[in-house]
Amino acid sequence: MKEKIIIIGAGISGLAAAYFLKKPYEVLEEKSYAGGLCASFYEDGFVFDCSGHFIHVKDEEIKKTIEKLTGGFCKIDRNAAIYAKNKFIPYPFQANLYYLDDKTKKECVNGILKRKDVKISASMPFLRWSEAMFGQGITKYFMKPYNRKLWDYDLNKMTTEWTGEFVPKPDAEIIVKAAYSKNKKRYDGYNSVFYYPKVNGCGALIDGLTKEVKVNLNSKTQKIDIQNKIILCSSGKTYKYNRIVSTQALPEFNECSLKC
Ligand SMILES: Cc1cc2nc3c(=O)[nH]c(=O)nc-3n(C[C@H](O)[C@H](O)[C@H](O)COP(=O)(O)OP(=O)(O)OC[C@H]3O[C@@H](n4cnc5c(N)ncnc54)[C@H](O)[C@@H]3O)c2cc1C
Repeated sequence: MKEKIIIIGAGISGLAAAYFLKKPYEVLEEKSYAGGLCASFYEDGFVFDCSGHFIHVKDEEIKKTIEKLTGGFCKIDRNAAIYAKNKFIPYPFQANLYYLDDKTKKECVNGILKRKDVKISASMPFLRWSEAMFGQGITKYFMKPYNRKLWDYDLNKMTTEWTGEFVPKPDAEIIVKAAYSKNKKRYDGYNSVFYYPKVNGCGALIDGLTKEVKVNLNSKTQKIDIQNKIILCSSGKTYKYNRIVSTQALPEFNECSLKC
């Protein structure tokens, strides 16, 4: 058994680590496909991205690498809307209540006017933060369903400091004003302009990387013997390592390495 760097996971992190590594490696991926959250699926001529679909790059070298790997990308101006109550509401929902039906709009406006006077802090659970910030109506019709779906996590258990920065926070006065007249303000945020591959969705990046990086699919790491530096895989194979680059969730990695 040759000693190598073992990379656990063939998501974008694991593939990129292998791509840039100048030493012998093995990538172990538990699934039958590479890409993790960044994978795309193709069906009936359509592309479905699992999650990440905005490419943000500041570094010119990385930009060139992504361009080469994807076969080229386009610069896109975000044009987002929220489908709520059978209508498309321009982004962000909370600054465009004008487009809602009268009953929902009234509930949202009343909600913001009747907010409880609580001290707002980033360590508050997301749901409480949203109600304190935007009131019950906006929370009910947008913040709660959208964020529950986006993060796939109990919003009462999730704090706000790591998500709050993604949420535009117009003043209550502006929110109420924008309920009765069209809001012309642009809310740029971090992703108003982004890059996207010309073909094959975000998976184009994964396709490009897997042409360069060898991945052992169906290879879930089951036990990590830290003392002897050996990994046992679900495929039955064992790998001797000198270092591990783990991209799997930390609690699961810990569990794996404690099994021996
Ligand atoms: C809804 C949503 C939207 C997002 N939008 C964007 C966006 O627009 N732009 C952006 O830049 N980012 C976005 N992100 C974030 C981005 O998708 C992730 O940060 C990124 O894909 C994570 O990559 P990763 O390789 O670190 O992890 P993952 O993609 O989770 O990869 C980990 C890999 O490890 C494998 N694995 C786990 N355990 C084992 C094991 N024991 N043995 C072997 N393999 C194992 C998994 O199968 C998986 O393939 C978004 C995320 C979500 C959820």
